[in-house]
Amino acid sequence: MIFDRPIDCDVHPVVPGLPALMPYLDDMWRELVLRRGVDELVSISYPTHAPITTRADWRGADGRTATTPELLAAQALDPFGTGTAILNCLYGVQLPFSEDMGAVFARAVNDWIAKEWLDRDPRLRASIVLPVQSAELAVAEIERLAHDKRFVSVLLLVMGEIPLGRRQHWPIYAAAERHGLSVSIHAGSSYRNPPSPVGWTSYYTEEYTNQAGAFQTQLTSLVCEGVFAKFPKLKVVMLESGFTWLPGYLWRLEKFWKGIRMEVPWVDRLPGEIVREHVRFSLQPFDGPPDPSAIGRLMEHMQSDELLVYSTDYPHWQFDGQDVMPEGFSAELIRKITIDNPLKAFPRLGLAQGGEAPTNKELAS
Ligand code: ZN
Repeated sequence: MIFDRPIDCDVHPVVPGLPALMPYLDDMWRELVLRRGVDELVSISYPTHAPITTRADWRGADGRTATTPELLAAQALDPFGTGTAILNCLYGVQLPFSEDMGAVFARAVNDWIAKEWLDRDPRLRASIVLPVQSAELAVAEIERLAHDKRFVSVLLLVMGEIPLGRRQHWPIYAAAERHGLSVSIHAGSSYRNPPSPVGWTSYYTEEYTNQAGAFQTQLTSLVCEGVFAKFPKLKVVMLESGFTWLPGYLWRLEKFWKGIRMEVPWVDRLPGEIVREHVRFSLQPFDGPPDPSAIGRLMEHMQSDELLVYSTDYPHWQFDGQDVMPEGFSAELIRKITIDNPLKAFPRLGLAQGGEAPTNKELAS
């Protein structure tokens, strides 16, 4: 398969409701859900009816959208000429405190994605939703699905119980690296901690704004705890993180690293070099300057044209119409962002390259 059309690295299929997942639960959990009166595991980071959750012209009568691959194709693939899209399902599997319940719902979501989406549109790939309540169960879920090459990454939320660099998470990174799966870190929280470093906030406006700070904290954690030294082939993709904060952030990280790097000897080169080798950032929401003439200067500050990967973030409301690509990007940069960079960020996408494209069935076995 030759990749000559955009690869959208962040689109969100929507679980239409818990009944859709019931066929993917075993008998015991189906009964528990009914007896406990569990009605939904909604991702409370994105309330169904909040304007930012779904762009107005994509919103269905029930407030949702993207509940079927046909709808997603009509709204997010065909209009943007997308050749491949990576599904990141933001259902609330990270919310239950029960490790078993998290694992059961992660499994149900992943099986639902495979059967109801990947089987029905060959343009679709997906991230494996992980039950991050337990690294052991998360690894088990990776091992269960790793044979299916249509899964190209594993999905973590940027705000969990502990920083993502901590060793409790390392078995997840080992499994991801072993299977060539990238690690996608998406905006959102399992609400074990306040969504700000100084306490609980009152409004979504505050929470959304604070996400960029959480991404910075996690990037620092991944670098300083030595994740990339331990897993040299690991690819991390930050989704909905923004990226224009990167130059200033790296200046700060490198300044302090230079002063006290004796405490992190495994960070044996400039942190910026490590980040540019291992970490990528999705395009939308674009937090760059509105002046197209400033884009060139921004990319100079980024010191690389390989850091950005294309995303529409469908159906979240980040832009209107077809204006997904900010003005001021050169044709060469657009080619890199839409195709070359995603192929490097998600090595499993390339499994379909060269010779005949494998069928969905071949990729799934
Ligand atoms: Zn997103």
